[in-house]
Amino acid sequence: MKVYIGIDIGGTNVKLAVVGDTGRIRARGAIDTQPDETPQKTFRRIRLACDSLLKSLTNTDLVAAGVGCAGLIDPVRGYLLLSPNLPVWEKSPIERIARRALGVYTFVDNDANCAAYGEYRVGAGRGVKNLVFITLGTGVGGGVVIDGRLLRGVANYAAELGHTTINFDGPKCHCGNRGCLEAYVGSYGLVRSARSRLRQGKGRVLRRWVTEDKKPLTPWLIFEAARKGDAAATAVVKEAGGLLGIGLASFINIFNPERVVLGGGISSSFDLLEPHVEKAISRSAFGESARLAVVTRSVLGNDASVAGAAMLAKDAIEARKRG
Ligand SMILES: [Zn+2]
Repeated sequence: MKVYIGIDIGGTNVKLAVVGDTGRIRARGAIDTQPDETPQKTFRRIRLACDSLLKSLTNTDLVAAGVGCAGLIDPVRGYLLLSPNLPVWEKSPIERIARRALGVYTFVDNDANCAAYGEYRVGAGRGVKNLVFITLGTGVGGGVVIDGRLLRGVANYAAELGHTTINFDGPKCHCGNRGCLEAYVGSYGLVRSARSRLRQGKGRVLRRWVTEDKKPLTPWLIFEAARKGDAAATAVVKEAGGLLGIGLASFINIFNPERVVLGGGISSSFDLLEPHVEKAISRSAFGESARLAVVTRSVLGNDASVAGAAMLAKDAIEARKRG
């Protein structure tokens, strides 16, 4: 059985998967990320973890490996230029290091591109050619597939959808700009918005949980409070959903996708955001483009990036064989 390894290097752990020819996950694993470790050492540990995953399966023929990593990555030269999670890895030839450790053809790309490609090939975008993927977590990442190919730009820095400015004098974003979509709908944007509403004396349920029960104020807690009808949490969800919808409306007008796929931890509460998202899209996007764009949750969830990394490696090696 031909198999591919999918690897997602995150800030706290490295996710691994053995992926079959059709994109099905055959085995999963994870190891800790050690931020001070060199990429050479980390890939040696990844190799050991992959070996034991492969040993758990029978009759495998490892063809290639795909690696996703947060940051600015040049997939042609295989370079990691800039990484917020792993400063030690910056300016390293990550593709060469990975290939030497793993002993097979290796393809590297940005983690959000990998997740977008995973949804496109084997997830919520299966069967369509044009897809916008946006991942809602601490950061807000994105990937865009147009006519069956990832949109890359001159240096593969395209599709930073979370850093679309939606309010030029809005709150500070982690990227340094003001009023990015991420500054409103990323984890810290939601928490900031809830905190300011609590300061104004709103939100009985959320206030009790945070002050009396000493629960940390997280997006999850905000969504739970909204489900209980808490006024502050409901207002946060309404605002975030509306602003997310405004961002998505722009992406719909720009890219004319058939699918808009939402991934990341916050997307698990998409049912609460959805009415506000849909309202903003129908108000702001061109009607016909909005009609063609189905907004949906990720199908692959946490598997999107490893499945996508593996499929990128598979498609790259096959394209190379075809010449
Ligand atoms: Zn930003």
